[in-house]
This record gives sequence, C-alpha cells and structure tokens, in this order.
Amino acid sequence: MRDLPKPAVPANGHRPAAPSETIASLLPEGCRNGATLWIDGGWNMAADRAGFTSVSPRDGAHLFDLGLAGAQDVDRAVAAARKAFPAWRDMDGAARAAILRRVAEAVAERADDFAVLETLDAGRAGRDTQHSAVRAAAMFQFFAGMADKIRGKTVPVAGGRTTLVEYEPCGVIAAVTPWNYPLGNAVTKLAPILACGNCVVLKPAELTPLTTLLLADLMAQAGLPAGVVNILTGDGATGAALAAHPGIDKVSFTGSTATGRRIAQAAAANLKGCVLELGGKSPLIVFEDADLDRAADAAVFTTFMNEGQTCTSCNRVLVAASVRDRFTRLCEERLAALRIGDPMDLDTQIGAIVSPGQVARITRLTETATPRQIELPNFRPVEGGCYFRPMIIDITDSNAPFLRDEVFGPVMTIQDFGSDAEAYVLANQTEYGLAASVWTGSIARAETARRVIEAGVVWINCVNTLSYGTPVSGHKTSGMGSEYGLEAIDQYMRIKTTVQMYGAWSSPFCSN
Ligand code: NAD
Repeated sequence: MRDLPKPAVPANGHRPAAPSETIASLLPEGCRNGATLWIDGGWNMAADRAGFTSVSPRDGAHLFDLGLAGAQDVDRAVAAARKAFPAWRDMDGAARAAILRRVAEAVAERADDFAVLETLDAGRAGRDTQHSAVRAAAMFQFFAGMADKIRGKTVPVAGGRTTLVEYEPCGVIAAVTPWNYPLGNAVTKLAPILACGNCVVLKPAELTPLTTLLLADLMAQAGLPAGVVNILTGDGATGAALAAHPGIDKVSFTGSTATGRRIAQAAAANLKGCVLELGGKSPLIVFEDADLDRAADAAVFTTFMNEGQTCTSCNRVLVAASVRDRFTRLCEERLAALRIGDPMDLDTQIGAIVSPGQVARITRLTETATPRQIELPNFRPVEGGCYFRPMIIDITDSNAPFLRDEVFGPVMTIQDFGSDAEAYVLANQTEYGLAASVWTGSIARAETARRVIEAGVVWINCVNTLSYGTPVSGHKTSGMGSEYGLEAIDQYMRIKTTVQMYGAWSSPFCSN
C-alpha cells in the first residue's frame, strides 16, 4: 500500500498532501464537489443539492464531500436501471462475462488505491485492506464464470406437452451495504447480481462510500453499459426510499438485524423478496482436548481482526472449566503482543474504529463490565482518531448486555462450561445464528457440534476462513437467503415455466 506523506514539512518546502488531497487524487475527476451520485453512467449532485462529509476515523481528517441522495434521486436511479435492464438481460452470457472479467482486472490493477481509500475512509488496518481489491477481483472472476453457465431444465409431462423451466434475472435489485468491509460487501452483491443479468442500484454505507466511487468509474471503463449499475451515496433514509421503491424487484441487504427487519417490511409492502445478511453473536467453543495454543490464536484473531467489526467474529468464547485459566492466559499474552494504532502503518494489526458513534456504542455496551487488566504496550492511538482499547471480559452475569447484544468492537468474552451439553446450550443461547468455531481433538465431538450448533457456518479447528465459492447463510435472526457460492446465483434469478403443446390442445369444456 502507498505510504501517506508524513505530516512534517519536507526540506524542499513542498507542502505534504493532506489526506483529502490524497483521496481527491484517487477518485474520478467527475465526482468532485458532492457530485457522487452515479446515475445512468454519469456523476450527479443530489437533486436538492443536499450533502454530507466523509471524515477519517484514523485522525478525524476531512476527506471528501458527498451528495446525499433523496427520493427524487432514487426515482432517477431506478428509472435508469429499468431502462438498461432489457439490453443487459438479453446480452449473451459470454459477453457479460467478458465485461465482468475486465472489471476484475481493473480492480486488481488499482489494488493499492483501493487500499488507501478504504484505510482512510474506514480506519481498517492497511495490512488488511491491501487484500480487499485482490479478493474483490477474484469474486468478479468467479461470478463472471457463471454468467454463461446458467441452465434451465425440462420437466417430463404427458399429454403432448413439453415443459420448460428457465431461470431469468429478477430485474432491478436494490443493494444496501454496511461499513465494515466496504469494497468486499459491495462486490459480494454486485458480482452475482450482474452475472445473472440484473441491473442494480447500490447504496453504500454513509460512513464508508469512497471505494464504490472508484469502482463505478472502473466498471464504466471496462465497458459496463450506462444504467446497469447506479450508485447512490446517502444515509438510512436513502436506503429506506430505495427498499420501498415500487420499481425494485428484489432487495439485497447486509447490515444490522434491526435495519434488516425494516427492509423486509418495506420490501414486503411491494410483495418483493429479500436477501438479508445480518448480525451475529457467534460462539467459539474450546473443549479440554483442544490444541489450546491454536485455539487461543483463533480466539484472538476472530475477535480483534478488522478492529472487532466482523459479522462472523466468534468473540463469545466458551471454554471447558478445566482449561479456562490456561486458555485465558494464552489469549492475554496474544492480545498484549498486538500492534494497535495508525491503520496506515503496515505493521499495525488493529486500526481505528469506524466512527465516534461506534466508539460510543461499544463503550455504552461494555460500561458495566470489569475487563481483565492487560498491559497493552503497543496501543498507540493517533490523535483525533477513533480508537477503543481492546478488552477481554470474564463472564459472571449471563444477562450482561454485551453478552446478548452484538458489540461489533474489539471485545472478547470468556465463559466456562462443565459439560458438552452445557456448552451447546450456551452456544445456542442467542437470537443469532451466523457462525461458530469449535476446537477439539475428537472427531466425535466435532461431528456432534456440527449437528447441534444453530449457525449458518461452523468452523471446526479453524475460524473465519471463507471462500467466495462457499455459500454463507445466516440462521435465526442472522439472515435470509445466501451469499457467495453458486447459491448466490439462485438469489438473483426467478423461474419462468413455459408449457408448449405439440399435440392438439382440446378444451376440457369440449371433452364430451
Ligand atoms: P446498519 O444496519 O446500521 O446499516 C447498514 C446499511 O443500511 C447502511 O448503508 C445504512 O445507511 C442503511 N440503512 C439504515 N437504515 C436503513 C433503513 N431503514 N432502510 C434501508 N437502509 C437503511 O448496519 P451497519 O452499522 O452499517 O453495519 C454493522 C452491521 O452489519 C452489524 O450488525 C453486522 O453484523 C452486520 N453485517 C453483517 C454481515 C453478514 O454477512 N451477515 C456482513 C457485514 C456486516
């Protein structure tokens, strides 16, 4: 990743670039001064010229001025997508695939630029964002491969008829994404949606919209026709207007369970379907026969990666009482060694929390906790930025709010269990069902855990390893439908059945 210029005035007298100048140099020319609404292949201001500002959680620096899309802008974006739909739907799958492959190449070429944008905009550690565009490019490649492989089927029926079942794109999809993996969340939706031949109006999170602006430009350069992808920068009201719009055929949302419920209600009013990828409160179970060193590596990684802002984080640790003390000590040692601070420093492992509001939320949820006293010699927040001191909390009260609610911050809880049965009860004692990680040396235990745990993804002796080829589907209040894998294609297609007579059709009215 490119280094940001140092704040000191260099000897040659040139003023170092401020983060806002760096951002402006990376984003397309056309989207300056709040013209960040990408509609029908062009940059636009919001119709009522409303706007908002992107601020870096790294140090509070002003980054970029953005347009705040309102109802009129939503109308225009949906109309542009509807207009583009017939030609995109009817394009040969191989031609659509070729465009998506060019998008993949362009995204990979600009990987460094995406990394700088995402690190400044979201506060994510640069060593992580370096991989964001590479993964996004791979996702476009994977789904490009699907674009010309969508097959229908025939159903054998008697009576001189042939029945065809075809899969056709749904139409115009509304995609609404959260701030925690801005580029990854957007591409997880765009790649399968486009491969199937749908058009899309995407609303990125208001806290982290910048990478989608660069993406819009690269997609256009790669030959994506105008109107196929439209991007509306905006807030919750923009997302609500989009989800409720009668011109939308399906809503695909990733974010909190509370917002997911609102989106499902809005879509239901139009009798439209939803794909919902929502929150989690995932357990990591450590049995006494586990490799404790590896299990501690996993617990610390899953809890603190991406500053604790990962939906599938398995930060609710359940450990066998007999090994609790040893395991806790191992986790403490690992946390104490982490480098926490400036996300632009490639040695940093934990960067900034996305916003002051999110820091306040984590603080409120954990204010009744007594975290373990752990020296963090490498905790070096940047002045003016949003940082939260990572913590490990011993659970004594099973009704503590941080045990029930998704904290979405660098907070691990540790609770012990006496028997396997108790471990499973505790693991499932949540409204969520997104993921789980199980650590054991016993195949029998692994097999039981896999069957008993109520979660869409169960990792056995590993954690947070997901391929874009593998479906992810939240159980309970963690979601509806799936993302990734061939299964993502099913979300964005609808069925059309054609019955064709080759014999003579006769009306049942005329049969006697
Ligand atoms: P959020 O629900 O607050 O916001 C997500 C998006 O929805 C934003 O773009 C926001 O502007 C928009 N929005 C807000 N209100 C809306 C409304 N009424 N109608 C339509 N859109 C609206 O979530 P967040 O705080 O941005 O993200 C964190 C949450 O996302 C966590 O709960 C996390 O678990 C979840 N998440 C889940 C997954 C998954 O795959 N399951 C992945 C990433 C994040």
